[in-house]
Amino acid sequence: MKYISTRGSAAPVSAERAILSGIAPDGGLYLPETLPQLSEETLAQLRTMPYRETALRVMQPFLPSFTAEELTACINDAYLRFDTKEPLRFQALDEKLTVMELWHGPTAAFKDMALQLFPRLLPLCKKKCGNRDETWILTATSGDTGKAALEGFRDVPGTRIFVFYPFGGVSKIQELQMTTQQGSNVAVYAVRGNFDDAQTGVKRLFADERLKKSLKVRGIELSSANSINWGRLLPQIVYYVYASAHLSEGEPVDFVVPTGNFGNILAAYLAKRMGAPVGRLICASNENRVLTDFFETGVYDRNRAFYKTYSPSMDILISSNLERLLYYATDGDTAQVAAWMRELQTTGSYRVPVTIMSQLRAVFGFGSADDEDTQKAIRLCKRKSGYLLDPHTAVGYSVYRALPESGHKTALVSTASPFKFAQDVLRAFMDANTDGFTAQDLLSMQSGRPVPQSLSRLKDMPVRFRDVIAPKDMEKVLG
Ligand SMILES: *Cc1c(COP(=O)(O)O)cnc(C)c1O
Repeated sequence: MKYISTRGSAAPVSAERAILSGIAPDGGLYLPETLPQLSEETLAQLRTMPYRETALRVMQPFLPSFTAEELTACINDAYLRFDTKEPLRFQALDEKLTVMELWHGPTAAFKDMALQLFPRLLPLCKKKCGNRDETWILTATSGDTGKAALEGFRDVPGTRIFVFYPFGGVSKIQELQMTTQQGSNVAVYAVRGNFDDAQTGVKRLFADERLKKSLKVRGIELSSANSINWGRLLPQIVYYVYASAHLSEGEPVDFVVPTGNFGNILAAYLAKRMGAPVGRLICASNENRVLTDFFETGVYDRNRAFYKTYSPSMDILISSNLERLLYYATDGDTAQVAAWMRELQTTGSYRVPVTIMSQLRAVFGFGSADDEDTQKAIRLCKRKSGYLLDPHTAVGYSVYRALPESGHKTALVSTASPFKFAQDVLRAFMDANTDGFTAQDLLSMQSGRPVPQSLSRLKDMPVRFRDVIAPKDMEKVLG
């Protein structure tokens, strides 16, 4: 199986190369040339298959040079540190709506589902390509990704990870999650400035040919862990195959997905194309409703105000993985995809023709919720079902409630533990000004659910990283 670029001007490569490169040389994103199909027989077996076995069954055709033993070892290691038997957990809210909790990993957000597995695939990809360099992962983060990447790469042989977050720009809990990080190959720096300053700094390091050469001499290459990498997308397909197979009662299952970079919902779309019983996909945005407007009008337009919301991991104006959807929507017209992406780069917007949009609307529902809607959704769900939502998942709940009743069985994808955003969740119920830990305790009493240990024990963990640096000094920390 070869991987091709969505923009069509890069040579096809193996799965290992696609994962090691992250992005294709023509600026496009890698996709498999053809999608493996789930047979009737497989689908029948999947209905009772445990998660780890499902992961092997789904992922193996995409990674033909991996043996079943290699892949099984990666999968078992990846989901060892989840606090549930299966890495995800279902919670039915009513006859039709079930929450699919994807946050039982070590950082209490869904990014663990992929970022615990991806770092274990990476060393094998390197081995298969004869690459002996040490891989240094550089990540700028506005909160969730950095911590999930740190936990994923900690103590993975042949790798080191450097995370840069904006000083004063993440929540206290998120900051503690990062500054108390354990592991022998990890480093965390607060950067003076906002997220963009940290992000620009990292991009500058990646673009610095002199730095790259001097690292190469030392046997080091730079890489990133962001969600355009195929190695992060692939593990996400698994939970849509698993969930649709387990929840379906003959009919396809709809999914509501709180969306930012369009990675999570794209994985659902791929599961559907592989033949899993996936129905409609509801793309839920917060006040940064660039995707809602796209599905409504066919125009993707990033020229707009940027809002900081209660669901910070969805505060995004460029949803990179939409490019992969466009590839499928145009039946693989890579020249067309490349032209739209050039337009996005130069003018900040592009328009997709009506015929293609109506096909997309046959699969995708859409909607947005601002902060007030989000708080209302948290209250409504607690009152109706006694269930506590985090602000990201609440955006999905709000959008679901606003759509006409479908009558379909629907899974609401829950992307973070409510205890990770405890202060904002508590504010939906009372005008309280508490610290994060007190908010966690109050919410735990109110909901009857325990605070995930990985979050509650933060207050007792030693802070290991205290450096605050200027953006111009980011290169120095690479020694
Ligand atoms: C990253 C993230 C999202 C958005 O997922 P995408 O794959 O970027 O669409 C939603 N919720 C939480 C909690 C996240 O961390």
